[in-house]
Amino acid sequence: MAELKDVKGIGPKSLSLLNKIGIFTIDDLLTHYPFRYDVLVRDDLSKIEDGGKIIIDGKIESMPILMRFKAGLNKMNFRLVTASGIVGVSIFNRAFLKSQLTVGSGVTVIGKLDKSKNVITASEIKMGLLTNKAKIEPVYHCTSGLTNKNMSTYINMALLMYGKEVFDYIPDVYLEKYHFLNKKTALNIIHNPSTMEKLKEVTIRLKYEELFAFMFKINYLKIQNKKKNQGLTRQINRLQIEKFIQDLPFELTSDQKEAVDVILNDLESVHRMNRLLQGDVGSGKTVVAFIAMLANCLSGYQSALMAPTEILATQHFQNLKLFLKEENISVELLTGSTPKKDKQRIYQGLKDGSISMIVGTHALIQEEVEYNNLGLVITDEQHRFGVHQRANLQNKGLKPDVLYMSATPIPRTYALTIFGDMDVSTIKERPKGRQKIDTYVKKNSEIKDVLKMMYEELKKGHQVYVIAPLIEESENSDLATVCKLKDQMRLAFGERYQIDIVHGKMASAAKDMIMEQFKNNDVQILISTTVVEVGVDVPNATMMVIFDADRFGLSTLHQLRGRVGRGTARSLCVLISDSDAERLKIMETVDDGFVISEEDFKLRGQGDLFGTKQSGDMSFKIANIRLDYKILLQAKKDSKEYLLNKEFDQDEIKKRLVASITNDRA
Ligand code: ADP
Ligand code: MG
Repeated sequence: MAELKDVKGIGPKSLSLLNKIGIFTIDDLLTHYPFRYDVLVRDDLSKIEDGGKIIIDGKIESMPILMRFKAGLNKMNFRLVTASGIVGVSIFNRAFLKSQLTVGSGVTVIGKLDKSKNVITASEIKMGLLTNKAKIEPVYHCTSGLTNKNMSTYINMALLMYGKEVFDYIPDVYLEKYHFLNKKTALNIIHNPSTMEKLKEVTIRLKYEELFAFMFKINYLKIQNKKKNQGLTRQINRLQIEKFIQDLPFELTSDQKEAVDVILNDLESVHRMNRLLQGDVGSGKTVVAFIAMLANCLSGYQSALMAPTEILATQHFQNLKLFLKEENISVELLTGSTPKKDKQRIYQGLKDGSISMIVGTHALIQEEVEYNNLGLVITDEQHRFGVHQRANLQNKGLKPDVLYMSATPIPRTYALTIFGDMDVSTIKERPKGRQKIDTYVKKNSEIKDVLKMMYEELKKGHQVYVIAPLIEESENSDLATVCKLKDQMRLAFGERYQIDIVHGKMASAAKDMIMEQFKNNDVQILISTTVVEVGVDVPNATMMVIFDADRFGLSTLHQLRGRVGRGTARSLCVLISDSDAERLKIMETVDDGFVISEEDFKLRGQGDLFGTKQSGDMSFKIANIRLDYKILLQAKKDSKEYLLNKEFDQDEIKKRLVASITNDRA
């Protein structure tokens, strides 16, 4: 296809300005959709208040009088005859319009009305009268040196010259099925809508196209994964697993049962498992993971469980040993701080197969680690693992089944797209007896109340987490810091209770030691940054206090809050902040992580929750996965049907879509 510079009117200067806002190709230009539309409807002079905004058209009655001031400034005045009376118009710095503003010509004026003087101070004058229908004007994201008008001109020129060549990703079958307009017409309308109805119609069509292409990719990858990734097949002794589950100290929730069932099916199937297990904090994902590891192990393969921090890996290791206490299975822990000679022994054991289960951090996937027959890899808090690290595992030439666990509940809508090439299992229901955590939003001025609440908990023999956004004071911020809070808490409670801190900059051995002390109740108040966010389990901790809570996303707050309420005692969470109370108040009433992450999405936009890495995949030009969920589902269904339909094997659209995936991945 032609290049951007081939579009008439786009010279080197405008080319570089277009590049600046991310427009490099004709396709980019044509899909630079307006971000809003101004609707121009003729106003009535008598109905506008003094100082009010007005849009009005009429014929020029008097020759414009031009006045020039210092510094190149100028002003023009003329009289305009409109349907609702005669009005004066003045406009600044449009001397260049003078030759067009001839007596008798029709113009449309947008500006502010001064009623006493009967003059409109215009911000804009457009040539031509308004029609009786509303005029809809697109408004584009521009940059300095590139006006809305330029943008519109370039786009329309590109449409005129190359509109026919623009590729349409919607296959004919679906164009016909939904009576969609062709691409060129659709683009023409989105950039020059005549009515709101037409605009709405093509908006849906263009959204559908975008989502169709997106879902095609996801479906394609999923199918490729399944084809390429012939995994291991194994026989699972379901009776044995069933018995094991019977012997657990609690009964699995039905969501847990279902997740176990689906995972065991995955393990047995020839297809390689690529599954996300998501559930709120405390929903009981870990036990599901352990059961999967056990099943894998009993079928003769090694299992690895990877956690993002040493604290968490250690905790999982201890729990796993407890879980397996009746079984004769060798379990080891491998982290960055495992002593060298232990490491050598563990490497050897993994290689010769004498170790059946390994728990650890990234250390598990380093070069020197070789496995005898790794059959299952589970990663906890998967969104914290880089894509790169995940790939690393796969590159070891192993084809283990993979299960990702995530406690950031992602509404199905997004899970479907973001983790679209994975299967998703969700644990919604919480284990019985889990209570709601009483949550309060407090101001800094109410700190005394908070300290009293803390004291009440401490007196009962319980422990408290205190969270601050920063570690140390910095010059240009008065946010709470771990160090400052330590001093304050010592003043308040130092004589009776042990207080300590843990944060991300500490050596991991020191961190582990303090966490261990907190677990053993040798420390009653633990002050920390968000390092405790991830999975730490201390049932005797019943209170969570978060300073400057407005600094965190709701999902993060929810995660933090999930650290308490793990035992039988009633637990509480206090969010301290002087701003953003409305958002934080959501936490007082909502305790469903899915609802909270949905709120987060609404408030913070789709990219934020997942960091920048994934947000690239999520940036749609016209569609919005939250608002256009219905279209998304339809596009998902259609694209899959299209993909699997052999008759379309040679189809140009399919080829293009597949090619675009290959490009993306390169
Ligand atoms: P998650 O990893 O999803 O945050 P965990 O697996 O750590 O949650 O579970 C939290 C706690 O609940 C653990 O102490 C676990 O033993 C317990 N638990 C898990 N499932 C159940 C259940 N069905 N009934 C009662 N307690 C459960
Ligand atoms: Mg967990």
